[in-house]
Amino acid sequence: MGVQESEPLDVERIREDFPILGRKVGGDVSTPGEGPGDDTPLVYLDNAATSQTPDRVVDAIAEYYRVYNSNVHRGIHSLSQEASVAYEEAHDTVADFVGAEGREEIVFTKNTTEAMNLVAYAWGLEELGPGDEVVLTEMEHHASLVTWQQIGKRTGAAVKYIPVDEQGRLDMDAAAELITDDTRMVSAVHVSNTLGTINPIADLADLAHDHDAYVFVDAAQSVPNRPVDVSDLGADFLAFSAHKMCGPTGVGALYGREHILEEMQPYLYGGDMIRKVTYDDATWEDLPWKFEAGTPNVADGIAFAEACEYLDDVGLERIQAHEQQLTEYAYEELDARGDVTIYGPPADDRGGLVAFNVDGVHAHDLSSIVNDYGVAIRAGDHCTQPLHDKLGVAASARASFYLYNTREEIDVLLEAVDAAVELFA
Ligand code: PMP
Repeated sequence: MGVQESEPLDVERIREDFPILGRKVGGDVSTPGEGPGDDTPLVYLDNAATSQTPDRVVDAIAEYYRVYNSNVHRGIHSLSQEASVAYEEAHDTVADFVGAEGREEIVFTKNTTEAMNLVAYAWGLEELGPGDEVVLTEMEHHASLVTWQQIGKRTGAAVKYIPVDEQGRLDMDAAAELITDDTRMVSAVHVSNTLGTINPIADLADLAHDHDAYVFVDAAQSVPNRPVDVSDLGADFLAFSAHKMCGPTGVGALYGREHILEEMQPYLYGGDMIRKVTYDDATWEDLPWKFEAGTPNVADGIAFAEACEYLDDVGLERIQAHEQQLTEYAYEELDARGDVTIYGPPADDRGGLVAFNVDGVHAHDLSSIVNDYGVAIRAGDHCTQPLHDKLGVAASARASFYLYNTREEIDVLLEAVDAAVELFA
C-alpha cells in the first residue's frame, strides 16, 4: 500500500489552501462577504455543483495575467511563446490525469456540457440516422439527456434508456438487451450527481464494443474525486469540468480516442483550428487544436492543469477514502432520522454525495433553513428532472463532500436539518 492509501488526509492543513473556507456568511447577499450579520462560519457542502479553488490555482491565473498574458499559437514574440507552451503543456497534464495517450486526445472545452455537445454535433449529426439508436441511462444529467434527445429528433435516431432499479443502480440485464447492433452510442454518467451511484462503466463499454458502438462517459462527478483512467473504463469519449475539481469555471475537457477525433469533422470553425484556407476550402489543424476554434481560455486552461497537479499532490485515493468516510457518516446519520428519505445505493457503495428529502419540508425550504446555519447545500432537480419524476418528487436536497470537508461540518448540517424538522413539525 502506498503512502497515498495509508495516510489519511490532513484536512486542517488542506483547508489552509482554501481561504474562502474561513469566511463567514449571512447578512446582505448584495454585498458579498460584507453584509450585516455575516457572522456564521461557512460550511460548504455544494461541491458537486462547484468546488472551491485552492490558492495555487488562483495564483496560476493571476500569474498568467501579471506575467505572460498573450494570445497563443499566433505570435513569435516571447509572451506568446510562453503562453503557448504553458497552454499546450496544460493539455499534457490533463491527459496524464485521466490516462489519455497524449494531448492529441484532450480537447479543452467550456465545460462537460460543451464537451457533450461537441460530440453530439460533430459526430452525432454526421453519423446518426433513422434506424440508429443511442442508449442512455435513466440517471443522465440534462447535459447528456437533452443533447442526445435533440440530436435524435434531428437525425431520426432513437434514444433509449437503461432503467434504474429500486436501489438506484442500473439494470444491467436490461442494458444487455437494449444495446444491440443498432446501437451507435452508449452515453452514461460515471457517478450520478443525484443518486451517487457508481456505474459499471467498463461493463457497459464491453457491451457497447461487442456491438461496435462507442461509449461516452460523463465523468463530471468522478474525475474530481477518484482515480479515473480512460483505458480501464474502456471509454471512447469522456468529459469533465475543471470547476468541480479545484479548478476555475469556464474550462473543461473532452477526452476522445485519437482515431475517432481524427475522423470527426470540426464542431466550430474559425481561427486557430485551420491549417490552410483558400476562398474555396480549408484544411484543419492537428489534434486537439482542430476542435479549439478561436482564442481559447488560456488562463483557465493553465489553471486547470494546476488543479490536476494539486489533486495529484494530495492524492486521489486519499481524497476518495476521505469522501467515503464523510459520505457514510452523513448517510447513516440522516438515515437514522426516521423522517428522511435518501435516494440511491447504500452508504458504502456511492460517490461523495447524498440527495435526500425530509418529510413535510420542501427541499428549497430545507436549503434555506440550513443556510441560516451557514450550510451551503443544493435544492432542486440537480438537472435530472426525469429521474426525479421517476423518484416521485419534484426536488431533493443534496449535500456533497470534498477533500476539505470535516465530520464537524456534517454535524452542523444535521443540527440544521433537525431544526427544520422541528420548525415544520
Ligand atoms: N454531468 C454531471 C453528472 C454533472 O453533475 C454536471 C454538473 N452538475 C454536468 C454533467 C454538467 O457540468 P457543467 O455544468 O460543468 O457543464
